[in-house]
Formats: sequence, C-alpha cells, structure tokens
Amino acid sequence: MIESNKKIPVHPERIRTDNIHRPSWDGMDVEADVLRLDLVDPVISGNKWFKLEYYLRDAIAKGCKRIITYGGAWSNHLLATAAACKYFGIASLGIIRGEEPATWSSTLQQAREYGMEFQFVSREAYRSKQNPDGVKNEGDYVIPEGGYGMPGVKGAANICTYFNPHAYSHICCATGTGTMTAGLISGIQGISSVCAISVLKNDTGCADRIKSLLDPGDNSFQVIDEFPFGGYAKYNPALISFMNEFYSTTGIPTDIVYTAKLFYALDQLILRGYFPPGSKILTIHSGGLQGNSSLENGTLIW
Ligand SMILES: *Cc1c(COP(=O)(O)O)cnc(C)c1O
Repeated sequence: MIESNKKIPVHPERIRTDNIHRPSWDGMDVEADVLRLDLVDPVISGNKWFKLEYYLRDAIAKGCKRIITYGGAWSNHLLATAAACKYFGIASLGIIRGEEPATWSSTLQQAREYGMEFQFVSREAYRSKQNPDGVKNEGDYVIPEGGYGMPGVKGAANICTYFNPHAYSHICCATGTGTMTAGLISGIQGISSVCAISVLKNDTGCADRIKSLLDPGDNSFQVIDEFPFGGYAKYNPALISFMNEFYSTTGIPTDIVYTAKLFYALDQLILRGYFPPGSKILTIHSGGLQGNSSLENGTLIW
C-alpha cells in the first residue's frame, strides 16, 4: 500500500503456481513449477510492479511532481511506469532510445494515453544516460532504466514471499538489467540456486551488474547466455513455434522478448540434463505479454 487511502493498482492476489510437464521430459527426474506473475496486471505486468513499488513510494514521500524514466519503444518498464504514474496522479516523462519513429509502437501509444510525455534521444546520448538538456527540473524524480538500483532490488525481493524457497532447488528467471534476478537472489538467501537466462547478446557485464546489487556473500547464481536468439527483442521462427507449442501443451502464454526465451532455455536445459536428478525448479513468469503486439496478427495461437 503506497498511501493508506489508495489501494495498489495491481492484483498480487492473482499470483499462483502452476505445475508444468512436457511429454519430452518423461523419464527426466525433475519437476517444474511456474510462478505466474503475468497475472498481476496486463499493463503493470509481471516483475514491473515489484521493481517500481519502492521508487514510487520514495517519489510520493518526497512530494515529487514528475517521474522521468528511460526505455526503448517496446519497453514494458516504460509502459508500467506510465500507468502507475497515471494511477497515483504523478506526471511522467519517458526518455526514449533512438529517433522518433514515423509510426509509434503500440507500447508508446498506450503510454501516451496514460499521459506520459516523451523525449527521443540518439542512441549515443541514451547510452550515456545523461539528462538531456534542461529536462530535469525541481520536483522531478528519476527512475533508472528497468528500475535498476537498490529500490528495484528491494521490491523484486518481495516476489519471494509468493513461494517457498525451501521447496525448490533452482529458480529460473529471464534477465535484462538484472534487477529482478538480484532481488530473487537476495530474497531467497542462498536456499535455492538462481539460473538467470540472459536475453541480451554478448552481455558480458550481466553477472557483474547483478553482483553490484548484492551483498558480497550472495553468489548462488549462474547467468546462462546461450539463448538470446540473436539479441534483445530478436526472434526467429523456431522461437515462435516453440511459443505456440508451449502454449498448447501448458496453457501458458509467453512473450517474445523475455519469457519465451526463458521457457525455451528451461526446456533445453532439462533435456540436456543440466539439472541434477531430483531437482525441483521454479520458473518465474515475469509477464511482458504486451510486447507481443509487435507481432503480426495470427502469429500466435492465443
Ligand atoms: C523487464 C522484464 C524482465 C527483466 O527484468 P530485469 O530486472 O531488467 O532483469 C524480465 N521479464 C519480463 C517479462 C520483463 O518485462
């Protein structure tokens, strides 16, 4: 609860755990569950509410008038921030990587409907994360890209209150900035080991980014970097057919940017015996389904 008189705009009570099994896993001595954070909200989806909560609390406590944050044209973080700001009556500005496109993505259009304003900056200026000239005024509060930082980690650690870490040997999640992964690692306190599936290509800094958000002793995790499918938000026909087939066997929809790669990796790792016999795996479905609106109609079967 951010303010005592204002309920939070999302539905954590909808979070549940589903057991999944694929026929190809017959005979592999592992069990797999999925934590359905995708059910929290279609817009402030998956891990995004968790990562934003303490930033929003801080901004509200400080009486900030406007929130500034960063993202690409399909950013789940940007859209979630726009929706949360609208809900709490705070103005928002999105600093967008790249030239203003001739046609806005549905993510940007939706964020604009929530009242977000935008500034498009070159990729170089974006990378340096400098505040473009004169954007930041008094009363502005900056949330880093993807909610990367300690308030994001603290919020993501709350995901661990929705499952019992003692019931699992491994927790698998998709990782971008690494904020959610760091939150999970700090939240489970070494009880299970975390497998972070990187969705970025050649992201050699990933493990260090995660470590810099953790206490020195928190190192029970591995970054798995074999499944980026060409890079951030890239995909191929094999990933699309996996998504459709995974949906038809489990009833679970996935998104092309994060969770399809996560479940694809889970499947491959199980099949190649990565997890020792008797492993019990919890995979975090971190949401993000709105990103599928970049696909042509009819690509996915749901
Ligand atoms: C943002 C996002 C992630 C990545 O979270 P990080 O904390 O940036 O690593 C994973 N899955 C989904 C669906 C997301 O939207």
